[in-house]
Order: sequence, then C-alpha cells, then structure tokens
Amino acid sequence: MTPIYQTSTYAQPEPAVHKGYDYSRTANPTRTALETCLASLEDATYGLAFASGMAAITTIAYLLNPGDRILGPDDVYGGTYRLFVRVLQRYGIQPAFVDMTDLTRVEAAMAARPRMVVIETPTNPFLKILDISRIAELAHAHDALVVVDNTFASPYFQQPLGLGADLVVHSTTKYLGGHSDVVGGGLATSSKEIYETLKFHQNAAGAVPGPFDCWLVLRGIKTLAVRMERHASNALQVAQFLRGHPAVARVLYPGLPDHPGHHLASRQMKGFGGMVSAVLKGGGQVARTAASATRVFILAESLGGVESLLDHPASMTHASLAGSPLQIDEGLLRLSVGIEHVQDLIDDLKQALEKAK
Ligand SMILES: *Cc1c(COP(=O)(O)O)cnc(C)c1O
Repeated sequence: MTPIYQTSTYAQPEPAVHKGYDYSRTANPTRTALETCLASLEDATYGLAFASGMAAITTIAYLLNPGDRILGPDDVYGGTYRLFVRVLQRYGIQPAFVDMTDLTRVEAAMAARPRMVVIETPTNPFLKILDISRIAELAHAHDALVVVDNTFASPYFQQPLGLGADLVVHSTTKYLGGHSDVVGGGLATSSKEIYETLKFHQNAAGAVPGPFDCWLVLRGIKTLAVRMERHASNALQVAQFLRGHPAVARVLYPGLPDHPGHHLASRQMKGFGGMVSAVLKGGGQVARTAASATRVFILAESLGGVESLLDHPASMTHASLAGSPLQIDEGLLRLSVGIEHVQDLIDDLKQALEKAK
C-alpha cells in the first residue's frame, strides 16, 4: 500500500538545493500517487488532486481573466452554478448557461466567444446526455477550452479526453472515493501548458488535500470497477421499477432505451452509471413525504457511495438555484443507487411511495 506521508515538510540536504519534496502544499508523496492514478484513469499525462471538487473547479477558473466568458450547461451542478454566478462574476468573468443537448444553441452561444466551455454529462439532476465530441469541436473552432466534469460517469464509464476535452474534473468525494468518507477533487489533462498553469495555481492558492484523504481516495479507486458495475446494474433495475409505478410521472435514466440520450450514451459511455432521477406525480408534497419515508435509501446530499442515497434537489443539493431560471421541479427525486441487494432497494422505494400516496 502507498504509505501515508503524514508530514508538512521534508529534510533538505543543504540550503537552496531544490531536490524532490520540500513542503506538502507544493507536493506530498501520497498525493503524487493519487495524482498519477487520476491521470492514468483518465488516460491523461497529468493529474492534480485537490481538497474538494469545488477547489478543483475554482483552480480551473484561474485559467480565466477578467472579461472572459464561460459557457456551461443549463443543468449544472449547483455548487458550480454558485461559483460561476456569485463568485467569478465579481471578478469580471461572465457565465452563460444553455441547454447543451441542443447543439444549435451551443453553436449560437459560441458567437459570444466564451474562453471556456464546461460540460457535465450525465447532467445533474436531470441526467441529460451531452455530446462531448460535437461540443468540443464547436468549442475548439472558436478557440475555447473544453472542460468536462466527469464526476457522474466516473472514468470507468467515460473518458472525456479521448472525446476531445482538454481537461477533466472530478469530485473524488463521489464514485472515486466511493464510501462517503472523504471530500476531494481532481483534475486530469494531457496538455503540458494547462498542467503547468494549474500546478502553479494549485500551489499558489493552496486548496490541496491532506495525505490521509489522498490515501482514502486511492483505496476507494481499487474497487471502482466492481462498484461501478453493481451501481449500474442496480440503477437499471430501480429505474425499470420506478417506470412501472403509478405514482411516478417520469423516470430519467440514460440506460432506459426511451431516454432521449440513450443512443448517444451507448456510444460515448461504457455503462450508464448509478444515478436515477424521477419526477413524482403528486409534486413537492408527495416527493418530500416519500423522501422522508425510505429506510434503506438514506436522505442525504452527495452521491457515489456504496450506500444508496436519496436527494430532494429543490430543497437540498440545488436549493441555491431557487428563484433562478434554472430552478428545479419540486416533485423531482434524485437517487444515488448503491451496491446493496437490489430487491432491498426496490422494496424500500415501494413502501415509501405507498406512504406518500
Ligand atoms: C459533488 C460535485 C461537485 C463538487 O465536488 P465537492 O467535492 O463537493 O466539492 C462538482 N461536480 C459534480 C457533478 C458533483 O457531483
């Protein structure tokens, strides 16, 4: 096992000779092992680890200058939206959001010459599938950098750099860590120039993970493949159950053949992932009651752990979108389907929906 180098500093042979490790904000051997692992998972040349997914995304924002524009999907992670709108905008960076399933809208938005296009696919919480290679082509034709938030798919199911992205970002808190016991983030790229700029800012801004957190993520990654297979097969069966349930208006899971992104997902991904969203017929009241009534699914923010989690995005993960044009349907529930016995999950949802009736 990779040792946990629980040290902030390193003995030096003599003054002013910079050899190897000197200070753990700059570099730490446990973190280096994680960074190498992240790069290899994404088929990238370089990896960088951060204290959280948002710290990784913030560090990407240091590639921008005042006056630059940034384009994101209309269905973007709530924290990313908050960073773009409430933080970056104060520094003169202008965010815009479009429905990126519609490539004509992406193309139209490129006329404003965004410096960076941020893609998330599958999106959160609507699980829309965005065409990474087509969006990357449109963005590159206008000299924009393409960043893909690959948290939902994980590198086991999707490798955006091979589809034309310049940079991949992860919340390692989710599937990579996989056990809901650590918060972390990561970046991967094969561009030396981008890497060197980001590496400089990683050290300059300092949002780095500690060695024990890096070790936890590394340990989680060892079982990524088997976990993702089980997450995906459980998710498909849960999605099929929900679709047949009279209290459910709509099920969003890219593995269902009638999902609008199913064919694209089949091409772009090696599996459909473990996230399922569903809109309940009774709206907000029914969704809240059902969310409080599950016993195996735990009502909690976050996703990607071995235990199944249930989220009411309008009041929880996506509450920061309230009052914005991107506000979420009150009847929506988002499930992070874990690796438990699938019948326990289905029975749990059945009894919760019965109580919410
Ligand atoms: C959780 C998440 C983030 C933010 O990561 P943190 O580790 O919570 O800072 C970013 N993007 C997506 C898609 C996420 O799910």
